[in-house]
Amino acid sequence: MSVLVVGSVALDSVETPFGKADDVLGGSATFFSASASHLTKVSVVGVIGSDYPVAKLDPLKKRGVDFSGLERAEGTSFRWRGRYRHDLNSAETLETHLGVFSHFSPKIPDKLRSSPYLFLANIDPRLQLDVLQQVKKPKLVACDTMNFWIQSRRADVLALLEHVDLVTLNDSEARQLTEKVNLVQAAQWIMARGPRHVIIKKGEHGAFMFTEKSIFFAPAFPLESVFDPTGAGDAFAGGFIGYLAATGDLSEANMRRAVIYGSVMGSFAVEKFSIERLMTVTRAEIDQRMRDMRRLVAFEEELPA
Ligand code: AMP
Repeated sequence: MSVLVVGSVALDSVETPFGKADDVLGGSATFFSASASHLTKVSVVGVIGSDYPVAKLDPLKKRGVDFSGLERAEGTSFRWRGRYRHDLNSAETLETHLGVFSHFSPKIPDKLRSSPYLFLANIDPRLQLDVLQQVKKPKLVACDTMNFWIQSRRADVLALLEHVDLVTLNDSEARQLTEKVNLVQAAQWIMARGPRHVIIKKGEHGAFMFTEKSIFFAPAFPLESVFDPTGAGDAFAGGFIGYLAATGDLSEANMRRAVIYGSVMGSFAVEKFSIERLMTVTRAEIDQRMRDMRRLVAFEEELPA
């Protein structure tokens, strides 16, 4: 089954302790589709400005990503500038330039309105709500957001929670949104507003999936070197939802497997700048890392004497 993602298609300028990249391909929808395209068919709805180097999207098109819902508007593209210091878990936003996104009104093409899986990637929550008016009963609606929107459009983020099945956030965003320090309480606070699943990502410390009845934890894959953490969250979401869409199975056991796919795809994203690594990773490498993850967490409970 296919996934529709609505989110930012951006140009990122990123500085990490290991190097610098300017105006490289970025955006929540871009990272999500680069990741999910390894597992299922993905369509992107978003907007780029007249300055966007469209040819840079070719590698994604070659991977089968459908950009028929990507508009091109007069004006400048969304740009994000960020920096990571030695704590690679937290990005410092130096600049967010919304450009054509500030006047964007998403139009979901007719053929995509019945997409069974919908990911409302990080973007203005008013746009995320607007998209929900245009789609027909997806099997799963998931959303993401970030500190920028929690701060500037809190009421809209809260309204959005009432209409989604699943939320993905990182730990600091979950704390900011819920004003709870404890993450179990933060997840409960979110679930009380509607979503049946809450995924809280903790960067190199893994991710939790909370439901009303259970908590599942997936470690992050222990990489020897992390180069650029940008996009890890969206690549995680791409692996997670991409796998759910590919299998069409929303059972608890399958959602747990999907979290591990999320963790694996996030780990590839951070090995290079931008979507570079997600464009070269092979299915065999993904399968191998899934097996490595299984070994990483395997243990047997000691039998009583
Ligand atoms: P993450 O997966 O959380 O590291 O997301 C990284 C991507 O989010 C970058 O490629 C940015 O272009 C994009 N981004 C940063 N700020 C925003 C924002 N306020 N709204 C939408 N996308 C953003």
